[in-house]
Order: sequence, then C-alpha cells, then structure tokens
Amino acid sequence: MEIFKILLKDNFLKFWQKLQDYGTVYAPVQVSPKSYSFKAVSEPQNVAWQALRTILPPKKFFFKENETILTYTENEIKEVKPDGQKFSILGLHPCDLAGLNIMDKIFLDYPSDTHYQDRREKVLLIGTSCMPDEYCFCESMGTDSPNVSYDIFITDINDAYFLQIATVKGKEFMNSCNDFLQIPSVQNNNEYKEFWEIRSKSFKIGFKESNLKSLMNLEIDNPIWEELGNQCLSCGNCTPVCPTCYCFDMLDTVNLDSVSGHRDRQWDSCQFTMFSGVAGDFNFRATPVERLKFWYRHKLHGFDDPHGLKTCVGCGRCTVSCPVEIDDIVGLVKALQNKTE
Ligand code: SF4
Ligand code: SF4
Repeated sequence: MEIFKILLKDNFLKFWQKLQDYGTVYAPVQVSPKSYSFKAVSEPQNVAWQALRTILPPKKFFFKENETILTYTENEIKEVKPDGQKFSILGLHPCDLAGLNIMDKIFLDYPSDTHYQDRREKVLLIGTSCMPDEYCFCESMGTDSPNVSYDIFITDINDAYFLQIATVKGKEFMNSCNDFLQIPSVQNNNEYKEFWEIRSKSFKIGFKESNLKSLMNLEIDNPIWEELGNQCLSCGNCTPVCPTCYCFDMLDTVNLDSVSGHRDRQWDSCQFTMFSGVAGDFNFRATPVERLKFWYRHKLHGFDDPHGLKTCVGCGRCTVSCPVEIDDIVGLVKALQNKTE
C-alpha cells in the first residue's frame, strides 16, 4: 500500500543529497528558450521544474536510440550484457509514467528484453506534479494522475512536497530520509486534494474518450485520413518524441577484416517510406496516407485488444514536433466524432 509523507521545501537539499547518493540523477534541464531535455544534474538549481514535456520522453533511458546487442568473430557470438549503475529520474509527469507502463508491457512481458529490464531494475522513478498547457490532453486519455510506474510521486503543495511512496524500492530509499520527513496533517491532505482538483479543471483541450475503440473502426474510411496523410512529409518526427513508440531496426556492421562485427538495435519509425518494405520489392504501407492512418490507429486503438489501453498518453509532443501540424490527436478525434467546438 502507498505511504504518504511530507517533505518541507526547506529540507529539499537533504532529499537531493540522498538522491545523489543513490546514483546519477537525471531531470529536465532547459536547453533552449522553449525546450527541455532529461540530463544528468548535480546541482538542484539546474532542475527545470517548470518543464512540461522534454524533447525526448523518458523511454530513452531504457530503450536506447542505438545500442549494440551482440558482437561476433569468426568463432563466436557474444551477447553484450547490460552493465549500468543505479540512477534516478526526477520530474516525470503522469503522462510519461503512463508511457513507461506501456513500454514495460512491450519490453518486460515474457521473454523480457534484458537491456531494458536491467535499466528498469536499477532506476528510481520520481514523478512530479504539473499544470497542463495548451497541448496537454492526458485527462482525455485517462493518464492525468499518478497511477502507475512511479516509485515516489511528488505533489507541490505550497511550502511542502506531498510524497506518495508506492513501491518497495521507493520505501527503501525513503527510509534513508526518515529524519526529515513528516506525517501529513489534515491540512496537507486537503492541500493535496485541492491541487489535483484545480489541475483537473485546468485542461484547455480534450475530448470525451468514450467508445473511441468503435469510433476508430467505424471511421476507417473517413476522408480525413487522405486529407492529413497527403500533407505528411514522412519525416518521422512524431515517433521518437512519442513516449510509447517502440519500433526498431537491426543493423549488422561488418568490420574491415570481414569476419567480425556487431549488431545494433536502432530506433525506427513507421512513418518512414521503407519501414514496411519487404522482400520482393513490396511495401505494405507504401503511401504517407496509409502510414499516418496506421500511426493514429495504433495510438488510439492498437492496444485495446491485447491490453485494454490506448498507446497515446496525451503528452502533446507529436503536436509540438510535427512540421506540418497534422499530428493533432484531439482535433482528429473531434473530427471523427463530428464535433467542431
Ligand atoms: S501520440 Fe502524441 S500526444 Fe500521444 S503520447 Fe504519443 S507523442 Fe504524446
Ligand atoms: S511529424 Fe508530421 S509530417 Fe513528420 S512523419 Fe509525423 S505526421 Fe508526417
């Protein structure tokens, strides 16, 4: 069962020191006037608490953009074993935690991916509360509150942080902080509830999600797919930024001796022309229209049958990143629902 504690903001530096003792701390850092990135941070003043969405989501820590899976010589094939250290990620918002929950279903279900699993076991995940901007619609996707994947979740309540400690790993870590933690008072509990109530009234965009599964099937031939798909540049921006896109390619590189080499796994994108190319010079999603429809359907319907989940968590990254402004999940759903307001 979850444990609740209070960390006074005056004691934050003590908490920060404990995090540093645990391992490298990653948190959002401002990298340009409008963008943020998860980076290793040693000084707490460098944490960008105001960051809503980082350029790349936290999947990058577990499912690397490029990693060597095996090496080979003439006589043997060697698996590259993960050998990472313990680390923590601070500043994960509820949508990104929900995204990690989806990634876990892909990479931790039997047979689990050893590289992903190793990093997931070593990380301490610390969620933090946030207020939505004009691109956030996690409420529509049911991912707007801390429900999954975090070890510790921090809600900012005026002079203090309200901590939810959810896992054995989180409890073990927080045991080292007991000296400066408090039991929440009734007032703290009320401040916590008030924060989440205000937050839920702060969404600027969204839609009613009910019956989305049937809607996606009913509207499979809607002309909007042509309209949007014909504008798509197939640049693939929308997939690396998505917390739940997990497609990859395998690349074999032969060394100059021509008998040894390595096999790398690299992120791929279903929006690239040759992603669905197969032997015989055939491409089963040859046009941008087909590829964009596939991507939208995967986000809004693809996980319904195996897991009862959507793979869109409402973070808004694709909308912000699409150069021709056609990645607009809220606008698309409303158009399919015939809702114009
Ligand atoms: S589809 Fe877009 S809004 Fe939804 S989770 Fe992916 S990047 Fe975020
Ligand atoms: S970011 Fe936009 S233009 Fe680029 S592949 Fe995705 S939908 Fe197409």
